[in-house]
Amino acid sequence: MTGGSERALFDLLLPGWFALALAAFIYLTIKRAPYGRHGEPGWGPLLPARLAWVVMELPAVVTPLVCALAGSGDAASWALLGMWELHYLQRAFVFPMLMRPGSRPMPAVVALTGALTNIGIGWLVWRWLFSFGPRLGTEWLGDPRFVVGALVFGLGMALNLHSDALLRGLRGPGETGYKIPRGGAFRWVTCPNYSGEIIEWVGFALASWCLPAFAFVVWTLSNLVPRARLHHAWYREKFADYPAERRALVPRVW
Ligand code: NDP
Repeated sequence: MTGGSERALFDLLLPGWFALALAAFIYLTIKRAPYGRHGEPGWGPLLPARLAWVVMELPAVVTPLVCALAGSGDAASWALLGMWELHYLQRAFVFPMLMRPGSRPMPAVVALTGALTNIGIGWLVWRWLFSFGPRLGTEWLGDPRFVVGALVFGLGMALNLHSDALLRGLRGPGETGYKIPRGGAFRWVTCPNYSGEIIEWVGFALASWCLPAFAFVVWTLSNLVPRARLHHAWYREKFADYPAERRALVPRVW
């Protein structure tokens, strides 16, 4: 692909990503992402959960690296890449390794769709930050948007990791069922792992200050808001003693 035609594809795909996010939001609100407790038959071959997560998230590790090597970065773009890779190395390797053996298998089609979208959004964000966008410059590292964004990213990641660890601790050896999560931010919301994930990418968008990163925030919301709604309704239906004051994603609000 020539530089010009790649740029033309970029200009087409970036607005297209917002449309895709809207379509995903509508689909996932009416239907559901068929994995974990919301899995259902009819989605074809299944992959063991650990393998599925590696297949799905590995492209989010590799695509940005390829874009970085193909472009030219500065201290700011490499610092942003460091934040991104910190998240996705954890998600692609550490998260699956720590998963309980009782985690439900995932349809291969879900893992592959996730892998494809990780390539698409990774290409948009990292082609912009290393090639098509303006260089942010070393001075960007002292800009309040970068500093606050990096802090928000770190806080979101801590919330996401802590909440995922509490969920992992719910199952003892050989157990496959579900329990009411308690402690940490579960005191206030049903899906603090998703709240943390959203906060992370809001922080990243602030720190990188570009439209592709904002597209990623919208994309993350379009996936996680419907899933949080489903999880919340599922707990309420399944557990009569589910804490009434707990909200889905945002304490006291929703
Ligand atoms: P879930 O909360 O549905 O599940 C996480 C893990 O905890 C699974 O292994 C699950 O088992 C187990 N688990 C969950 N609830 C309970 C419970 N009540 N009792 C016992 N075990 C439980 O999260 P997801 O799998 O949807 O997501 C995992 C991570 O990936 C999260 O950090 C999330 O933020 C991130 N993610 C990011 C997305 C994005 O768009 N950026 C999209 C989707 C996820 P089982 O599999 O058997 O249900």
